Formats: sequence, C-alpha cells, structure tokens
Amino acid sequence: MSDCIFCRIGRKEVKSDIVLESERLIAIKDINPQAPTHILIIPKAHYGTLMDCDDKELLAEMIETAKALARKLGLDKRGFRTVINTNEEGGQTVFHPHMHFMAGERSSAGWDKTRRRKKVWLRYYRARFATAAACS
Ligand code: AMP
Ligand code: ZN
Repeated sequence: MSDCIFCRIGRKEVKSDIVLESERLIAIKDINPQAPTHILIIPKAHYGTLMDCDDKELLAEMIETAKALARKLGLDKRGFRTVINTNEEGGQTVFHPHMHFMAGERSSAGWDKTRRRKKVWLRYYRARFATAAACS
C-alpha cells in the first residue's frame, strides 16, 4: 500500500472535492486549477507514472471517464483538453498517474502556448495566401 497523496485521496484518508467515482477511479477537482474546469482523473491503484501502467482496461476507463465527465458537465460539444504529464520533463509533479481534464476559455498561458503559436502561424499563412491570390 502506497502512501502517496493520490493513493490517500483514493482511500479517502485525505479530503478532496470528488466529482465522479467508480470502483477503480476517482475524479476530483484540482486544488490549483489552471482552467475554469480542472479535474484530475486518478486510478485508485498506485503506479509511478503512465509508463509503469500496462493495465489497458484501466487506461481505457480513464479516457471513457473523461468523456463521461464532458457529457455530465455539458462540455462534450464545447470542448475540453486531456493531458497526462509523464516524468520530469513531461512536467509530472505527483508520481501517481493521473489525467488532467480541463475546459473553459481561461486556460493558463502555459497550457495554451502551443495553441497560441499555432494560431499565429495560421494567421501568417492566411495573410500570405491572400497576398499571393491578389497578385496572381
Ligand atoms: P502533475 O503536475 O501533472 O503531476 O499534476 C499534479 C496536479 O495535482 C497539480 O495540478 C496539482 O495542483 C494537483 N494536486 C496536488 N495535490 C492535490 C490535492 N491534494 N488535491 C487536488 N489536486 C492536487
Ligand atoms: Zn499513489
């Protein structure tokens, strides 16, 4: 039995804001939200990182839980983001695998960097294409 914070949350030894629960998983509100909706989907069994978990059913249940959460919260059409940080360079700070479920416009700058970069490129290519079309 592990004593890590997410194991203790799964065993209800540490208080958390539970959004959804099944036999093998618990979904709780992140204590330090980076988006208007920021939920963590956490397996009750302990593994160090995603790389240590080969339980395909459990991994599939994590994804299905994200979909169920999206429907439950009315976010399935509006959209949401799922992230599993893995190991140090992947930004993992709690070494018990968990999936971040984030939704809402006000995502943090860090999480949104890639998206913003893509938008800038898209704008650039659109402008170039428009200029090329006008000159031909
Ligand atoms: P990661 O950096 O991907 O390992 O994510 C760990 C996440 O766990 C962070 O977003 C933390 O805010 C969150 N967290 C840590 N402790 C708790 C806690 N006791 N209850 C809820 N969320 C937590
Ligand atoms: Zn654990």
